Amino acid sequence: MRIILLGPPGAGKGTQAERLVKKYNIPHISTGDILRSAIKDGTELGLQAKEYMDQGQLVPDELVVDIVKERLTQPDTQHGFLLDGFPRTVAQAEALDANLQALNAPLTAVLNVDVAEEELIERLTGRRVCRACGSTYHIRFNPPTVRSVCDKCGGELYQRSDDTVETVKQRLAVYRQQTAPLIDYYREQGILFTVDGAQEIDAVFQEITAILNQQQ
Ligand SMILES: [Zn+2]
Repeated sequence: MRIILLGPPGAGKGTQAERLVKKYNIPHISTGDILRSAIKDGTELGLQAKEYMDQGQLVPDELVVDIVKERLTQPDTQHGFLLDGFPRTVAQAEALDANLQALNAPLTAVLNVDVAEEELIERLTGRRVCRACGSTYHIRFNPPTVRSVCDKCGGELYQRSDDTVETVKQRLAVYRQQTAPLIDYYREQGILFTVDGAQEIDAVFQEITAILNQQQ
């Protein structure tokens, strides 16, 4: 099962990823995680990446691709993998395809967990954080007993500046702009499946596994 998971912030991608890796016994591979572990393990590619990061620069495409390639040959990927946050660009997607072709291991499916913009905004702007103890709440999904007051310590709850409507709209716009070409790329290959992420978590998971079972 070789899966790419796409989805805007707030679509519940993380929850689905957790369940998928458990069900199919595959590693959850996110670019951030593998960059960090390549650096920690001191691999040659990791050291190269560290140089860029230490200078506050983005790690170049080719290096990210090579690090992912290295990761995809490790033994825990024998049943497949779930890629999260990679590829980000069509160039990366093409490089990934070439690598997978060389490994004779094509992608099973690209799952696009989608949720309407208004719903995402509601999900993403509802978070409240306790000033005193840092506990997090959500005004709709996990509200405190008393409005704006922390259940645990009685501290005041506030909205972080990156959770405001303007910031969230900006993040979503950046995501759409970045991802649209990738979605087209995989749609043309006939392996893109859009899943309705507005459903309950279990229903989303069922829809995803039904798609994957058909693809095998
Ligand atoms: Zn608190």
